[in-house]
Amino acid sequence: MLPTRTTIILLAVAALGLLLLGRGALPAQAPPAVAPPPAAPPSPYTAPDWHAVLAGTDPLRLLVVGHKAMLAWKGDADVRVSYAATDADVYTAHAGEQVGVVRTPEGGCALRQEGKNFLTVTEAFRLTSPKPILLWTPQPETWRIVHGPVVITPLADNTFGIAQELLLEDYLRNVVCGEMPASFHAQALRAQAIIARTYTLAKLGRHADEGADLCDEVHCQVYGADANRSRATDEAVADTRGLVLMYGDTLAEAYYHATCGGVTDDAGLVWGPEYARPYLVGGTKDSAVKESAAIGDILCASGGYCKRSNGYRWTRVFSATEVNELVSRNLTKVTGDPAAKMSKVVNMNVEERTPNGRVARLRVEGDGASYVVIGDQARWLFGTGDPGPEGLWSTLFDLTVTRDARGAITQYTFKGAGRGHGIGMCQWGADGRARAGQSYREILAAYYPGTKVVTGK
Ligand SMILES: [Zn+2]
Ligand SMILES: [Zn+2]
Repeated sequence: MLPTRTTIILLAVAALGLLLLGRGALPAQAPPAVAPPPAAPPSPYTAPDWHAVLAGTDPLRLLVVGHKAMLAWKGDADVRVSYAATDADVYTAHAGEQVGVVRTPEGGCALRQEGKNFLTVTEAFRLTSPKPILLWTPQPETWRIVHGPVVITPLADNTFGIAQELLLEDYLRNVVCGEMPASFHAQALRAQAIIARTYTLAKLGRHADEGADLCDEVHCQVYGADANRSRATDEAVADTRGLVLMYGDTLAEAYYHATCGGVTDDAGLVWGPEYARPYLVGGTKDSAVKESAAIGDILCASGGYCKRSNGYRWTRVFSATEVNELVSRNLTKVTGDPAAKMSKVVNMNVEERTPNGRVARLRVEGDGASYVVIGDQARWLFGTGDPGPEGLWSTLFDLTVTRDARGAITQYTFKGAGRGHGIGMCQWGADGRARAGQSYREILAAYYPGTKVVTGK
């Protein structure tokens, strides 16, 4: 990322702070020049050790919903409430009896029935029942059926985080069917199961501020409906039980995406240097792409392990008016620069690409100013400004800007390849490789060079 005006100001403030607090700058007896900042509220949840989760001795917590100021539950059998840390009894409701919990203005929590608070609870608590638990949350009003223990954590913003506890292998059965079509080849499903297991263990505690490990959406991994599970997806999890992807002694950060469009890319170049890893270097060829090929040649390359994907090649056309609206709405967000505002674009061009052809820098000029949009942010400029399906499907695109006789822009045409960020495993490519006879080990070795599939301990 380029330093923005805000980061420059923050750096200046930090430098001033160092001067004020520098040991040599103050006499020995002087009081501190700056009061220490107030301690941050403690994280409500400490993630379990990944070895214990892999062994099945500790469950993981899947975020059901975060930041609700109240909720209620009931069950077809007794629902026991106990403190999550100690398992000490709090209250047990009989079958069909509905209990609510609210945050109180003082920052506490109270169990509630028939319009009255009847019991104060002081920390995270667990609901357990021999039958599924029916959970109600407001705004929007939702009833959910949850199979298994539910942990409710009071959060720092005076709301609750609600998480389901489940064992890794049970969780993975719904993730594999949520992240990959069950019709994919058995070896591709096995590769998916291994990287979903690895990704899960590497990301435990990602939602600790909401009292959970992972959420059930694209942000972490999609937790598919039971109806999407099949014998093939269940077998992929069971047959790879305990297998993880390691780089040396550490779990690999096994990012994956739908379709590379012909060639994968380098995490450090697409997302920024903090994401660079020796095994996320990209350059894995899913089609007959030559080294450092021009974008036009990549788009024309023949064959392709991921060519069955509907995102293998795509075209999107925007009018000048549409792009002006998108840029005026999203430029601040995608550049991270509060001063980046523009109402009329007069020029847009790809200024730099990664060695594998993805857009590294997109130049946008207008209103007498000029900005650069970096890497994957170029996709979100043409959507909502945030990651999502509305943006461009990939940054592996060629941009043609059409102008009228007076030189004013009339149209933007994006011809692209692939769907997703292009880092790590290409899911459609994994299926293509499996159909061509590759094993899940060969598939993973291709997309994460230097890693090993091992039985985690
Ligand atoms: Zn998440
Ligand atoms: Zn691919």
